[in-house]
Amino acid sequence: MSCAFDLAHYGELLDAAKAGGYRFVTFDRKPLAGDLFLRHDVDLSLGAALRLAELEAEADAQATYFLMTRSVFYNLASEEGERTLARLRQLGHRVGHHAVHPNLDLDERFDAVVAWHNPDPEFMAAPIDGAVNVMSPPWFSREHYRSDSNQHWRSGCPHAALAEGELEWVQVLTHPEIWVYPGETMRETMLAMLDEEREADLERLAADRIDLT
Ligand SMILES: [Zn+2]
Ligand SMILES: [Zn+2]
Repeated sequence: MSCAFDLAHYGELLDAAKAGGYRFVTFDRKPLAGDLFLRHDVDLSLGAALRLAELEAEADAQATYFLMTRSVFYNLASEEGERTLARLRQLGHRVGHHAVHPNLDLDERFDAVVAWHNPDPEFMAAPIDGAVNVMSPPWFSREHYRSDSNQHWRSGCPHAALAEGELEWVQVLTHPEIWVYPGETMRETMLAMLDEEREADLERLAADRIDLT
């Protein structure tokens, strides 16, 4: 099995989790044996989030999508943002807040669950009033956590550990953009994303009555 960062291997990761006996759960309760908290921090692309969300729904996998209100890459208050929120809910996923410290915009769009974007160690695991911080205990502990940051799994791709049920419970963080756009390196993947964004931006310009003739 090649551990590529693509949708084919993402599907294999979901299959591995099922083979290992894990159940997909959300952050509304504390971890129990056999739990898989599937978490997505949506840093760059709502479109990528939706593509992953559709794939998961087809695989009967539930995830929690953490969306930003202060992203420099997308606008959650736009029509596309609202459509994304609605579709994620419709597919059975949960929506948490991917917040930029120290700002919390926890409104009715979100469940009471927060993941800080690029957190500093000082506040990463600090409790948050009225919401779960996904990086605080009991939802986070280093040995029960796997993350795909910048196309790098710190302790290797987790598919084998998942298939064998090696971890009593686990929180898996993936970033949809990494899996949806093709590329052998993070740079290639980002360039593929930007190519697609350029096409989308041209459509937005036309829709905004900009003369592109
Ligand atoms: Zn793998
Ligand atoms: Zn982030």
